Amino acid sequence: MNKDYNSTPKIEILPEHIIDQIKAGEVLERPASLIKELIENSLDAGSTEICIHLVENGLDLLSIEDNGHGMRFESLPFAFVRHATSKLRTYEDLFHLQSFGFRGEALASVASSARLTCTSQPVDLKESGGKIIINGGAQELLIPYHSGNQGTSLYIKDLFYNTPARLKFIKSKASERSALKKMLYAFALSNPQTLFSIKWDEKEKEIFKPVLDNETSKRIEQVFFSKFSKEKNNHIWNTTESYLNYKVEIYFTPETYSTPQYRHHYLFANNRFFQDKSLHLSILRTLEPIWRLNENGHYVVKITVPPHEMDVNVHPNKTQIKFLKSDIIYSLLVTALRNALKLHKNEPSSLLPAMAPNSFFSREENQSLNLINMNSNQNELEFHEPTFAIKSSSSSILGFISESIVIVTFEQKLYLGDVKKIIASYISFGLEEFIKNGDPPGPLLISEPFKIFQGKIDSHFDDLKNIGFEFDRLNSDVIVLRTLPSFVPQNISRDITLCLLEYFKQNKTSQCDSLLLKKFIEINWNSFNSLSTHTLENVLKNIFTHDNLRNYSLVLLEEKNVRALLK
Ligand code: ADP
Ligand code: MG
Repeated sequence: MNKDYNSTPKIEILPEHIIDQIKAGEVLERPASLIKELIENSLDAGSTEICIHLVENGLDLLSIEDNGHGMRFESLPFAFVRHATSKLRTYEDLFHLQSFGFRGEALASVASSARLTCTSQPVDLKESGGKIIINGGAQELLIPYHSGNQGTSLYIKDLFYNTPARLKFIKSKASERSALKKMLYAFALSNPQTLFSIKWDEKEKEIFKPVLDNETSKRIEQVFFSKFSKEKNNHIWNTTESYLNYKVEIYFTPETYSTPQYRHHYLFANNRFFQDKSLHLSILRTLEPIWRLNENGHYVVKITVPPHEMDVNVHPNKTQIKFLKSDIIYSLLVTALRNALKLHKNEPSSLLPAMAPNSFFSREENQSLNLINMNSNQNELEFHEPTFAIKSSSSSILGFISESIVIVTFEQKLYLGDVKKIIASYISFGLEEFIKNGDPPGPLLISEPFKIFQGKIDSHFDDLKNIGFEFDRLNSDVIVLRTLPSFVPQNISRDITLCLLEYFKQNKTSQCDSLLLKKFIEINWNSFNSLSTHTLENVLKNIFTHDNLRNYSLVLLEEKNVRALLK
């Protein structure tokens, strides 16, 4: 707007169609938010079959056909008027809503912005339905319409026909598509009895056939291993925990997948899809013993909560939920996952790529794989190596010379590494990055208690919080850890935390000096027993991607070095 301070502006009320277009921005942030509204409408209408067609990720054409209860001819135009809804009559109704929608905004918004055609046939096939065409808010056609099948079809062309400014905000094609997929699969998963057919442009079509009431896990299989997913290994583990009226049901794959767009991560609370970074991080953290770092598998988590103990954000685009007792959910989630890990611990390694027996090396086993064995018994090495190599593309651990010296291969070269230095540089570097990126720390599912007397350390709680370690004092001699940065491997987190507490106690600093801290951890960290080979491998993966970390903690075993040793 041009600012002209020489004349007083006239205050005017915006014309209705502009108000609608502004509103459209709320609902139509992107095609994925529109598809959410439309599928909810179809489900609200009791549909059991929903067919969707998307051209250019819904920007050119977004159509949805359902077999729901339809609309009568007289009501059809009202569907596209703002604040017109069949779902709410009185203020009190707001508190007993059974449907998804209730504000009567979605269709008005899309009608103001796009070009659309809608046909609808009511349940009573003798009754007349209608056909309506609206282009950029202007009604072009309204005629009675009859069909032999009940239901509603909506064709939306040029989604941003009347609001091209919005088009600019649409992110990359790939990210629109993955947002759409996420939304569509979320509905497929939460409505397993509904048939979904999804067609992309003129080629790919996915059909999710309805499954029986007691076979809902079949729908999960359909989504996880749809014909577009490259991975055909269909193992799904299922685990459940409950407490009072709370229940957490988890389906996940032991396999991990390197392509992010093929990973399925879904959280549902009372069958409503939501997103929650902390819960997600907790799942990754708990599955750390089997999932490779930066390469996770699929999961579906279904949470049942007493309805009055969760707060659904009613903004149409938001998929966030607040829980009154989130600690119960965290505990159930972790317990369920841990139980599953325990239960499957002895599965054959073909099923468990990352959980190969080596990951659970006992100390004795580690010790037996020493250098002497390596020289004298080639077979043993060959026997152990393949299990490491199954998934590890980059680095793998060949064995240990002592508890703190590890032999590693990376890109066909052999290295000797100092485990203390590896951990120290991984943690200090990780913290540097954590601070730089401002990542959120992951809440601990079960707060970790430490016996630390009240004193100087209490004045460092803020410093510790700044690096992702949030403490509360319970009483004069116990503090509890509430959060951890997500890069800290769980099985050594306790020792790392103790190192940090000691570091702040001993040093006057209120900040984390990376070099000082590295030295400190190197001297004080001692939890060789809890460090699994798998975790160490994951840590090494990171070490090898940063030259300075690698040079600090590992030496390349070149022939001349070995010869020097043998002299
Ligand atoms: P809301 O869902 O909040 O009521 P919408 O703008 O999404 O608002 O829809 C307006 C009205 O149009 C709904 O209340 C419903 O009566 C009708 N409607 C929309 N989509 C369908 C559909 N697929 N089948 C039957 N009726 C529908
Ligand atoms: Mg609606």
